[in-house]
Amino acid sequence: MDINLKGKRALITGASSGLGEVIAKEFAACGAKIGLNYHSHQDAAEKIASDIRNNGSEVIILQSDVSDGKSVEVMVNDFVKKWGGIDILVNNAGIDGTRALVWESDISEWERVVKINLFGPFYCAREVLKHMVNQKSGVILNVTSVHENIPWAGYSSYTVAKAGLSMLTKTMAQEVGSLGIRIISLAPGAIKTPINKNVWENPETFADLIEKIPLGRLGEREEVAKTATFLVSDSASYITGSTLFVDGAMIDYSNFTHGG
Ligand code: NAD
Repeated sequence: MDINLKGKRALITGASSGLGEVIAKEFAACGAKIGLNYHSHQDAAEKIASDIRNNGSEVIILQSDVSDGKSVEVMVNDFVKKWGGIDILVNNAGIDGTRALVWESDISEWERVVKINLFGPFYCAREVLKHMVNQKSGVILNVTSVHENIPWAGYSSYTVAKAGLSMLTKTMAQEVGSLGIRIISLAPGAIKTPINKNVWENPETFADLIEKIPLGRLGEREEVAKTATFLVSDSASYITGSTLFVDGAMIDYSNFTHGG
């Protein structure tokens, strides 16, 4: 199957590293025009944009903090001013925060994680949908996590934000379905990126993590990016309002792999 994003205008948040970088590159390779959002790593964003241009695709760099509604409004306006509309939004930016049990949590840190992981996608979707609703077309892909389902002690802000984002996907899909706009969640399991570097760099925590994955290995960024590309393409035209897990079956209670 040939995935074609020719001429599609795609905004990807948090695209200066990890999954966002490879999603932006994969979309560009399939013909999309890219809006590459970054928060604080301008050098990294410029390097990725130059890789994309060197491969013959068009890209603009957009600095914005997705947890700031005003900053998101400016970013989306700049994107639309440049490309004349928007076809694809990938709400990818996210952080997992500092581990803390609920009663030990710092309130401002807890709020920061929810603001970036849940309010951020809401702000971006809100601005982008204003255009998609007028166009009567578009796709929003929300990058959630296996933790939209799996509880994770010490990371309550992350799990509630991702679970909330999953419900935002379903609710928005109802709101815009009749307009031909699709909203999907992609839930990665353990993919090798900077967000979990401290886990895969340490042999003990790495072994503990691998035990939780029936496929027996971490996922690669390209495996997520290729799935994302399929989901935003017309080849996935009947998929909306649901979550696709890209997780090596992490979601499926791996403790039962050997019976029980
Ligand atoms: P990453 O740390 O490389 O990427 C996260 C990106 O978000 C970074 O580029 C960061 O600068 C950006 N960001 C953070 N705060 C921001 C803000 N306020 N405004 C704009 N951008 C901001 O890690 P990643 O693994 O590529 O994570 C991408 C997404 O995938 C996240 O939403 C994460 O929760 C999700 N995810 C990752 C994994 C995994 O195993 N890697 C698993 C499940 C879910």
